[in-house]
Amino acid sequence: MRKALRVGFEKRGLVRAARIATTPRVKRSAVLTVACAVLSCQPAQVAPPPCPSVSPTLSTATAAPVASTAPPPDPRASLPKNWVDAADKIAAASKARTNAYTWLSTLTDSFGHRLSGSKALEGAIDFAVESMKKAGLSNARREKVMVPHWVRGKESARVVTPIEREIAMLGLGGSVGTGNKPIKGEVIVFDTLDDLKNSKDPLKNKVVLVNQPMPPFDPKTNETGYGTTATIRWWAASEAGKKGAVAALIRSVTAKNFRMPHTGSMAPYEKDGPKIPAAAIAPEDADYIARASKKGAVTIELSMGAKTFPDAESANAVAELAGSSLPNEVVVVGGHIDSWDVGDGANDDGAGCAMALDAVTLLKELQLVPKRTLRVVLFTNEENGLRGGKGYFEAHGKEVHIGAIESDFGAGAPRGFQVHGPAPFVAAVKSWTPLFQEWGAVDIQEGHTGADISPLEKAGVPCVGLVPDGSHYFDLHHSHADTIDKIDPGNLRKNAAALALMAYLLAEGAVL
Ligand SMILES: [Zn+2]
Repeated sequence: MRKALRVGFEKRGLVRAARIATTPRVKRSAVLTVACAVLSCQPAQVAPPPCPSVSPTLSTATAAPVASTAPPPDPRASLPKNWVDAADKIAAASKARTNAYTWLSTLTDSFGHRLSGSKALEGAIDFAVESMKKAGLSNARREKVMVPHWVRGKESARVVTPIEREIAMLGLGGSVGTGNKPIKGEVIVFDTLDDLKNSKDPLKNKVVLVNQPMPPFDPKTNETGYGTTATIRWWAASEAGKKGAVAALIRSVTAKNFRMPHTGSMAPYEKDGPKIPAAAIAPEDADYIARASKKGAVTIELSMGAKTFPDAESANAVAELAGSSLPNEVVVVGGHIDSWDVGDGANDDGAGCAMALDAVTLLKELQLVPKRTLRVVLFTNEENGLRGGKGYFEAHGKEVHIGAIESDFGAGAPRGFQVHGPAPFVAAVKSWTPLFQEWGAVDIQEGHTGADISPLEKAGVPCVGLVPDGSHYFDLHHSHADTIDKIDPGNLRKNAAALALMAYLLAEGAVL
C-alpha cells in the first residue's frame, strides 16, 4: 500500500478501515472505495458529495465492509464433485417427497403398537417386506428370530390412604403380575436409586417408590438425561426386591409432567432372586406420594395382570440395493419395527423404519447405486431383548460390513449424526459436514450409534447413528402419546434425505 496513502489514513484514523480493506474477500473494491473516500472527502465534518459506492459514514473508522455481490464460496468445493452432485440430486428429489410419511402413517394406522410376540408386529413385518418388494429392493424377506413374549394384561394402581386417588401407571416390560389379587402396602419413597441401594431401612412388605426426576433437556448438547434415569427403571425392582419389598414403583422416565406414565424394559429377574412387580407412574403421582408420605403413611393398591409366555417367532425385515461393483461388501441401514404396547410407536421407532426404507428407495429411484450393497434391516424386538440385532449379527456377522447406520431417536428437526469407529473414519465423516448443510444435519459427533447395530459396532464395524433434535423425544417415549400426529412430515423427509446421503457415501467407500 503506497506510503502516502498510509500517512493519509493515519491522519484521518482510517487505518482500521484500510486494514478491513485488505482482508482478502473484500480486497479490490474496498481499497477502491477507501481511496475514493480519501481523495474526494474533505475533513470528516463536511459531508462530501456521495461517491457511487461511498457512504457518508466512511469517515468513521468503523465503516463496515461493503457486502460483496459475489456468491459466497461453496463450502463443499473441497469435496469430490460426485459427492456434491449426489447431495444435490437427493436434495432436489426429496424437496416435496412424502413417501416416508405416507408409509409411516400406514404402519401406525394399520397396525398400531407392535410389541414382540404380538400379531400386530408380525403383520407390520409382513407389510414392511411387501413395501420393500414394491420399492424394487432385491431379495426382500423375513429373517426368523425368536423373541420374548410378555403381555401386560389388565392393570391399575391407586392410593388408598390418606385419600383415595387414582395413579396413572404402566407396568414395566418383563415384570411379573400381582397374581389374582392386588398388592396392598405402605409406600417408602427414595429420592434416588443410590438412596435405595444404600438404605438400611426395613423394607419388608413395603412398596418402594424411586422418585428421581429426569433432568431437563439440554438444547446446547442435545443431552436428554435418559442415560442416568433409564438405569432406575432397569434396576429398581431387583434392588427393592433384595430388601424385601413387595413391589417397586418408579417415577416415569420423562422430564415433562403431562400426568402420563412411560413404560420400558427392566432388568431380567435373577434366576433365584425375588420377583416383585414393577411399574412406572406419572411424575405428578410420584410427587403426590412423596409429599403425602412426609406427613404420614401412604398406602397404595397395585394390580397387574402381566404374564410372560414362551418365546414367539418373529423376524427382521430385510432387503437390499445390490452394490454396483462390490456387492459382497455391505452397509446396513436400519431401525426397529417393534414398539411398546402403548401409543402407536410412531417416533419409536416407526419413524426410523420409514426413514431407512425411504432413504435406500430414493437412492434406487435416482439411480444413485453405490459400489457396495445397501442392506435395509428393520429389526424386531429392540425394546425388550435386542433379539433382532443379535440375530442379525449371528446370521450375517461373518460378512464384510463396511458400515452400519441406525435411526432410533425419533424424527425431530435434523441435527446431525453420532459416529463410532477408527479415528480416520470419524474424521472423514466429520469432513462431510458441508454436504449435510442442506438439511441442517451438521452436528457430527463421536458417540453411541444405536442398540440394534451395537453387535456390529462391538465387532469393529464403523457405525453411524442419525441424531435428530431430541427436545421432545422423551415427552412421548414409550407412552400413549407416541402417535402419528407428533410426526412433522417435513422433518421426517429431511432426515430421510440426510440418511440417504450418509448411506450413499458409506457404501461408495468415501471413508476408505
Ligand atoms: Zn426405540
